[in-house]
Amino acid sequence: MKSLVWLRNDLRMDDNPALRQACINSEEVHCIYIYSSKQIKLHNEANCKTEFIINNLKDLSENLRKINVPLTIIDSMGFEDNPKKILEVIKERSINKVYWNNMFGADEGTRDDKVKEILNKNNVNSESYDDQVVYAPGTIKTKEEKPYSVFTPFKRRWIANFNIDLLDIEFNYALKNDSGVLSNVNDFNFNFKKTHSVDMSIWKVGEKNALSILKDYLDKKVVRYSLDRNDPIKEGTSRLSPYLASGIISPKRCILEALKINNFELDSGEKGIIKWIDEIVWREFYKNIMHSFPKVSRGLPFQDYTKKIRWRFNQDELDAWKSGNTGFPIIDSAMRQLASEGWMHNRLRMVVAMFFTKNMLHDWRLGETFFMESLIDGDFSSNNGGWQWSSSTGTDAAPYFRIFNPITQSKNFDCDGLFIKKHIPELKDLDKKEIHDPSDNVRNHLNYPMQILDLKQSRLRAVDAFNDAKN
Ligand SMILES: Cc1cc2nc3c(=O)[nH]c(=O)nc-3n(C[C@H](O)[C@H](O)[C@H](O)COP(=O)(O)OP(=O)(O)OC[C@H]3O[C@@H](n4cnc5c(N)ncnc54)[C@H](O)[C@@H]3O)c2cc1C
Repeated sequence: MKSLVWLRNDLRMDDNPALRQACINSEEVHCIYIYSSKQIKLHNEANCKTEFIINNLKDLSENLRKINVPLTIIDSMGFEDNPKKILEVIKERSINKVYWNNMFGADEGTRDDKVKEILNKNNVNSESYDDQVVYAPGTIKTKEEKPYSVFTPFKRRWIANFNIDLLDIEFNYALKNDSGVLSNVNDFNFNFKKTHSVDMSIWKVGEKNALSILKDYLDKKVVRYSLDRNDPIKEGTSRLSPYLASGIISPKRCILEALKINNFELDSGEKGIIKWIDEIVWREFYKNIMHSFPKVSRGLPFQDYTKKIRWRFNQDELDAWKSGNTGFPIIDSAMRQLASEGWMHNRLRMVVAMFFTKNMLHDWRLGETFFMESLIDGDFSSNNGGWQWSSSTGTDAAPYFRIFNPITQSKNFDCDGLFIKKHIPELKDLDKKEIHDPSDNVRNHLNYPMQILDLKQSRLRAVDAFNDAKN
């Protein structure tokens, strides 16, 4: 039996159900990864994320080689040609069965249906698995058999249904028959042009590194998660999101390792561990939202009335926000962190997204796209969920009249201004009283911009816009 594993968002061997099953059922296993610059552009994937994926493919290819599984990268024009490309490999290599792990999103679903159709027509079996979530999408339901649209009851049901067998992921790979096919990852022309300025040395490549980041985090920091997670200078979070987003580590592995140090308790024991697992369940919640409410992956808001909001558009304000020059130090330091690290602290993602959609009153979809284009951890459902939450258009949405004041957020969560100083060196000599909102004189002197808008007026403007849409 010869099997093909179609790798997509699962660039790892550990807890990779498609790869594991293919290896259990077949003597010879081949892996492919379909690469398309056009598709990357269409889905606004960040340039730094593409570089990260390419480097992780190289690492994975090396690991697969050790069990005689070749990884072939296939050039593609986009999702439309995927069925044809897969069929070509199947015919060339006389493959009997194709395995993959499911992805979320409308385009991905349509593509996979077309692949299944062409495989059926050619009498080739296929099997797919859910590696991104603990429960199959759409199976956590309310008493009325409806999908949840609020996190807390979803989480309660998630815990109530939990059984440790769901995390039965340990597996030792055995050597497969040598197919004689060589991996092409090092010779493949990815046609990759670097346009980002992210320091990639902070994102170590490969699943071994991802597992050791997890281990380190659980050993040293997770117990303080509840206390430190909102302070951006403390590095109190795991920074595992780029690895989870591209499937270099699995959510089940993260939860299992965390449970091991909490006596397998999900709702008691160490507060930090429980809270950290909560966040991984948030990720699963947003994936379920995308699955059960396909409108959100077609650019529509979850709350229908918000379609009527009359968003503003001002190119200068948009440019100032993107480049970290709004004149609000906490916003600008966060946006500069995004440019230099391809990542932003969760508290600051909420602050800059709320500033963008409320104070600037710009359409959340513009911010969502810019984040996808910039984030090394860009994840369609978490990003969409985060933007829709911040703009009060989504599930669990922040009430539209509760708008974060960025200066208060700055004083609360970066009280000494250390995060601001790290990312805006021109403000490094200011004291903690001045740094959150420097005087006009200081701004002129340090060549730091004036505020692009008035916080009070812009807040009222946002509340009016939401009231108008509601009535
Ligand atoms: C506007 C906005 C946009 C966002 N865009 C993305 C995105 O594109 N990709 C992404 O992975 N996350 C996104 N998030 C969620 C969150 O900010 C990041 O997951 C988190 O900052 C990653 O850092 P960490 O790995 O240190 O997280 P930790 O605090 O260590 O959490 C562990 C894991 O849980 C998941 N997680 C944590 N917080 C959330 C959350 N609020 N929602 C969903 N999953 C969560 C992540 O996978 C994370 O790696 C967004 C949030 C907002 C408000």
